[in-house]
Amino acid sequence: MIITTITEAIGSTPFFKFTAKDYPMPQHSAIYAKLEYLNPGGSIKDRLGHYLIQQGIQTGQITKETTIIEPTAGNTGIGLALTALSYSIKTIFVVPEKFSMEKQQVMKALGAIIIHTPSELGIVGAIEKSKELAKTIPHSFLPMQFENWANPMAYYQTIGPEISRELTEPITSFVAGIGSGGTFAGTAKYLKEQNADIRLIGVEPEGSILNGGTAHSHKIEGIGVEFTPPFLSGITIDGFEMISDQEGFAYTKQLAKQQGLLVGSSSGAAFAAALHEVQRLPLGSSVVTIFPDGADRYLSKGIYS
Ligand code: PMP
Repeated sequence: MIITTITEAIGSTPFFKFTAKDYPMPQHSAIYAKLEYLNPGGSIKDRLGHYLIQQGIQTGQITKETTIIEPTAGNTGIGLALTALSYSIKTIFVVPEKFSMEKQQVMKALGAIIIHTPSELGIVGAIEKSKELAKTIPHSFLPMQFENWANPMAYYQTIGPEISRELTEPITSFVAGIGSGGTFAGTAKYLKEQNADIRLIGVEPEGSILNGGTAHSHKIEGIGVEFTPPFLSGITIDGFEMISDQEGFAYTKQLAKQQGLLVGSSSGAAFAAALHEVQRLPLGSSVVTIFPDGADRYLSKGIYS
């Protein structure tokens, strides 16, 4: 493959197949994890950044004068910056202080300006700050991943069809983490249209509210919500798996040590949830999950310590 812009390397990521040979699951069952950390910016959000900018250009909302402003934990910022630089479009990202330094350094390396908001205000504080900034910066464009339906649509049009094309066997369950909810909602909608019987399982860390709990802090990064994402409306979710920091990080370490999969903690949580799900299902079931990003951006936070 020869490419001339880095965005051409987004997508077509491999599936890793886990079987009963190495993991406690019924015979002939399997978990297939899409290795999204192998995208060029290191996460599934490269797909989103590319989609949002292409769409903004097509609708005339983004031009050469545009400054993109977005509240982000980091991966969406990296994804947006990666595509933005190929069009020489400026980017400003509003990041709650607690998120990893590596992601912030990568966003800066891709030419972005970072603005911090206090950790205790969460992503809601970052959203408010972004809207405030947009009022003062000319030609600003806020993709607003938390409320823009182009977010789930990006996955509906990219990873959903990719999963369907690559897996020839029927998919029993789709299990994925929920942050903005875009990945889960867009992919789930596509897969449900292909197979009405598929089970849809959302993954959240302890301290997220989808299963009726109260919001509190957690160490698993990238998933977990303080409000129900609008994109989940209209999707029949069969259940939520709430994964503790302890279990999520234990699987994150195990995936590295046993399989050489250098993934972030939301992938460890997704794997834990996929294992719980496959153990509930009959022999010969197939569970699909997503490993959204890599471990390298959490080394300073002691992901392996
Ligand atoms: N894992 C990681 C590491 C992420 O950064 C994100 C996005 N915040 C997710 C999972 C969840 O993706 P989404 O926002 O599409 O729900």
